[in-house]
Amino acid sequence: MKDTAKHQGLRNQLVSVLEQKGITDKSVLDAIKKIPRHLFLDSSFSDHAYQDKAFPIGAGQTISHPYTVAFQSQLLEVQKEDKVLEIGTGSGYQTAVLCNMGAKVYSIERQNELFKKTSILFPKLNIRPKHISFGDGYKGLPGYAPFDSIIVTAGAPFIPQPLMAQLKIGGRLVIPLGEEVQIMTLLIRVNETQFEKHEFGEFRFVPLLEDRN
Ligand code: SAH
Repeated sequence: MKDTAKHQGLRNQLVSVLEQKGITDKSVLDAIKKIPRHLFLDSSFSDHAYQDKAFPIGAGQTISHPYTVAFQSQLLEVQKEDKVLEIGTGSGYQTAVLCNMGAKVYSIERQNELFKKTSILFPKLNIRPKHISFGDGYKGLPGYAPFDSIIVTAGAPFIPQPLMAQLKIGGRLVIPLGEEVQIMTLLIRVNETQFEKHEFGEFRFVPLLEDRN
């Protein structure tokens, strides 16, 4: 597991690409500059890790494009010490970006293979999410709620009600909504019963899988 000057150079280039694509949040760009994305991928992809591309991570899943990770992270408007719930730990890259931004991250993954792999990887890379769990993201984590923000990293056919319920007033839920293609959607909780909805462009995610036990 090595991070070299060459990788750092590639990360700096990736950050420039993301800036050109419209990412402006400095804490997001700083995190992408620091997190060694190649170490979250199978070594056969590591030469390509700093291209703005998605790659397979096992169990039929993919690591999101860096632009998607940056875009979602920016929409969250993370403040240091915020409690952030992530649905879909996957490779752990998005988790690492949020940890680097100063968030206390709670993350759920429903593929046991990926959950186990990532549980081993985090301590090796000195990445310390507050809590990671193997389970169904549709249910959120009621025992740890409420959250300052929630990020869903798989395409959801609808907004799971428990996630809305687990958001603080003023909190932000970022969720790609749709089946084939997803519209990046931001919900801001205005009060107990009202949510403000904002829609951003189209993205493509692997599906948020329903519980099959
Ligand atoms: N954030 C990840 C993205 C991985 S892709 C990364 O940066 O690598 C989406 C992930 O969501 C996959 O790992 C998939 O297994 C997981 N997922 C799908 N349905 C889920 C569900 N209902 N609950 C929790 N995780 C889910």
